[in-house]
Amino acid sequence: MERIAIYPGSFDPVTNGHLDILERGLKLFDKIIIAILTNPKKKFLFTLDERIEMLEESLKEFSNVEIDTFDGLTVDFAAECNAQGILRGLRAMSDFEYEFQMALMNRRLNREVQTVYLMTGLRWIYTSSSIIKEAAQFGGDIHGMVPPIVEQKIKKIFAVKR
Ligand code: ADP
Repeated sequence: MERIAIYPGSFDPVTNGHLDILERGLKLFDKIIIAILTNPKKKFLFTLDERIEMLEESLKEFSNVEIDTFDGLTVDFAAECNAQGILRGLRAMSDFEYEFQMALMNRRLNREVQTVYLMTGLRWIYTSSSIIKEAAQFGGDIHGMVPPIVEQKIKKIFAVKR
């Protein structure tokens, strides 16, 4: 049986922290489907197309990874993909409470799908899409925290906005 996981998130934009979890996840799963959240109520910096483009470019070295989009329940999307797992990353304790609640809710909604948490690499413990956007907005150097395509795009956006 092929072991499949979905890896849900906003990926606004993808960071090296996301890629670290993906790389570890591929040691456990045969295929990982990156599931980009399209929730129209959430405010994103990048459009869906831009987020997909940056992911595609950043994933060139990876095999057995697909990119898809979803809104609605994560467990429903997992079932649609025939996935047994939902992959998520954990950084500091601050992630834990929210993730714990989500994982228990998702288990209640669908007992066939298991949420799997992987610990981030220490290098990425403070890396998040939002903190990167915040730093870049004020001209902070984000080199090495995101894939090169993301660095370029982010710099361009904030150069125009400043
Ligand atoms: P969400 O808005 O659903 O948290 P994100 O795109 O921010 O979406 O994150 C998707 C997943 O990637 C989450 O499980 C998150 O914990 C994980 N993640 C994000 N940044 C890191 C990082 N630096 N190290 C490990 N996991 C991370």
